[in-house]
Amino acid sequence: MSTPIKNIAILGSTGSIGTQTLDVIKDNPGLFRAFMITGFTNSYLLIQQAIAFVPEYVIICNEEKYAEVKAALSHLPIKVLGGYEAIKDMVTHQDIDIVLTAMVGFAGLEPTINAIKAGKDIALANKETLVVAGELITELAKEHNVKILPVDSEHSAIFQCLVGEENNPIEKIILTASGGPFRGKTTEFLAGVTREHALKHPNWVMGAKITIDSASLMNKGLEVIEAKWLFGLEAEQIDVIVHPQSIVHSLVQFEDGSIKAQMGLPDMKLPIQYALSYPNRVKNNFKRFDFVNYPNLTFEKADMDTFRNLKMAYEALNRKGNMPCIVNAANEVAVAAFLKNEVGFLAMSDIIETCMARIAYVAQPTLADYLNTDKETRIFAQNLIMQMPLKAYDFNEK
Ligand code: NAD
Ligand code: MG
Repeated sequence: MSTPIKNIAILGSTGSIGTQTLDVIKDNPGLFRAFMITGFTNSYLLIQQAIAFVPEYVIICNEEKYAEVKAALSHLPIKVLGGYEAIKDMVTHQDIDIVLTAMVGFAGLEPTINAIKAGKDIALANKETLVVAGELITELAKEHNVKILPVDSEHSAIFQCLVGEENNPIEKIILTASGGPFRGKTTEFLAGVTREHALKHPNWVMGAKITIDSASLMNKGLEVIEAKWLFGLEAEQIDVIVHPQSIVHSLVQFEDGSIKAQMGLPDMKLPIQYALSYPNRVKNNFKRFDFVNYPNLTFEKADMDTFRNLKMAYEALNRKGNMPCIVNAANEVAVAAFLKNEVGFLAMSDIIETCMARIAYVAQPTLADYLNTDKETRIFAQNLIMQMPLKAYDFNEK
């Protein structure tokens, strides 16, 4: 019996995860259809994607680009909409089977909530949603009987290791981290790095924000919080280990001491495909891993003293409430400022630390509290940045 084609809504189709999701859909026309695609400002790419995939809906978030997208697609049977509100509304469309959240940052939260309330399964790449409001999202998903299928490679690895282990408690999980471009470096070195250094990730090609997060180990911090909510764990049950080759994507240790790992070459298309095809595996022609080419798979302790963001993420997780939301907002503002050469690399951690100390703590936040905390933290962090003296080094020299 053939399975029906799944209609996929891709939020953020013009990004790194979004374009790779379209590659997976293109390779499996009998399994998946791009039903809705959305982009922020890259109208050119969104139009090209729409022409290639002819989805039912195309949404351009930036309304100034709406007329251009609408005109370019007028000869095709595609409904074109503009604005963030349209994304929030249309994710509930009755014909959507899975919403793949590949937008970056806090913007993923509200569309994800609406999609869950409409009973849509979520293929979750947008980790910030779970960082900000993990408790609210996982409770909603339970209430609406919705699956949250991880796209993040580490969480997909754990998810894959847990198949068939439903009755076996997890003792702990071990998230692997590549260590990023600054693995082994000192604080003095980090004081002088620029965005160009930080944007060069050794193993993965990704969007700018997550690439900076990977260099600062904030990405791993966000992933620790993401894992807590996806797998129902306590902070003490989540370990991080640096594994520079990015072949072991993460591991689960059970109560008998047995450890399961999921491995493969670093390629996001595999976790994307698994999230869309779960519980089935789909044959593909992705490049295969060969042990002979990797005689040394190495593992080392993460340096949380030099890379303070990881330590702060654990602290936020322990302090609960709106603390992870504060960390996320402060980090988004700090990373954006670093990408504009407005602050140095280490200042990003200072901004997060100050926000954690200064923004009002809420123990049991509602959605309104999260929206408020996010807004308040952004304003506060932005003001902090304006008061910061530019670092002593010259950005242009490095
Ligand atoms: P990206 O910057 O390449 O793409 C982001 C996409 O979101 C683009 O399509 C953009 O148009 C859209 N977008 C950005 N801001 C928006 C806003 N305010 N409103 C609506 N749409 C907006 O990012 P990416 O690397 O694809 O990452 C996307 C998400 O997936 C992030 O949460 C990231 O942490 C997560 N993720 C990415 C990777 C990866 O390999 N790239 C791996 C794991 C997890
Ligand atoms: Mg990851």
